[in-house]
Amino acid sequence: MSETRWPRLKARTLAPGVHWLEIADSAWDTSLGAHVVIVGDSHEVIVIDTAYDLDAPAGFIAGYLAGLGNPAVTAILLTHHHRDHSGGAARLRAATGAPILCHPLEAPLVAEATAIEATDDQPAVPGTTVDGTIEDGQVLTAGGVAIQVVHTPGHAPGHCCFFLPASGLMLTGDLVLGNATTSVSPPHGSMEDLLRSLTRLLDFPMTAIVPAHGPLIRDPHANVQAVLAHRREREEQVLAALRAGDDQPAAIVARVYPDLEEKLIELASRQVTSMLIKLAREGRVVAAGEGEERRWRPA
Ligand SMILES: [Zn+2]
Repeated sequence: MSETRWPRLKARTLAPGVHWLEIADSAWDTSLGAHVVIVGDSHEVIVIDTAYDLDAPAGFIAGYLAGLGNPAVTAILLTHHHRDHSGGAARLRAATGAPILCHPLEAPLVAEATAIEATDDQPAVPGTTVDGTIEDGQVLTAGGVAIQVVHTPGHAPGHCCFFLPASGLMLTGDLVLGNATTSVSPPHGSMEDLLRSLTRLLDFPMTAIVPAHGPLIRDPHANVQAVLAHRREREEQVLAALRAGDDQPAAIVARVYPDLEEKLIELASRQVTSMLIKLAREGRVVAAGEGEERRWRPA
C-alpha cells in the first residue's frame, strides 16, 4: 500500500497484514499520542494502541480502516495504560464494537489514566473500563497474522510487547523507543523489571523493532544490547555520584546529567530514583529516611 497522509500523520505497510500508523513525529513529540499498529486483512483486524482521544488520530485510524475495506475490528490491544496509548480506546470501541484488552496489571491503571476531572467548561469523563485481559505467551490472530503477547514490565507493571512470528516484527510499545531511552518512574515503573524485559527481548528472532514513539529500528538485537549497555553505564555513574557524596536524586541528576533542560529534570530524578531502588534491592546502596528526606549512600 502506498503512503497515506492525514495532516502530518502517515501510514505504511511493514509486512503482509501489518500496517503502521505513525502518530508521533519523533520520540519526544507525543502531542497526538503514540503510534498505532493495525494487524489483519480486509475481513478482520486487531488494532494495537490508540493514541490520544483526539479527532486527528481517531479520524486517521477510521480513514485507514475504511481504506482496508472496513474490516471487523476483533480486538483493541493496549501495550500499557499511559494515555497517549489508551486515550483513544473507548472512542474506537464505540465506533467498532471491539473489546479493549490489556494485561491484568494495567486494567485498573487504564481506568485511572483515562479518567478526566470536571472543569468549568467540561463535565468529568469516567475512566475507560477494559473488557478483557491478555497474558504472556497468548497468541491472538487477525486475518491469518499471529500476534504473540510478551509481558515486559518495567515502564509499566503490565506493559506488553507484541511479537509477530511471521515477519519477525517486535512491537515494543514504550519498552524500546526509536532514538530515545524509555522513562522509568516509580511506583509503576521498575528498573529491575525493565532490564529483565529488555534482556528477554534478545531471545526473539526479531527482524525489526516497531516502537510506539520514534522511527523503526532495523538492527533490533544490537539496539537492545546498546540500551542495556547504556543502562549499565548510567548505573555506574549513579554509584560514582554516591561515592562522591551525593545522597539525593536531585544532586545525582545535577552530576550525571549536567546540561539537562529544566523541564526534563523531574523525569531524570524519577529515573535516578528507580536506579537507586534497584541498587538497594541488590544490596549495593542503602537508604535512610522517607519521602523527601530519604538519603542514599553506597552499601
Ligand atoms: Zn508510556
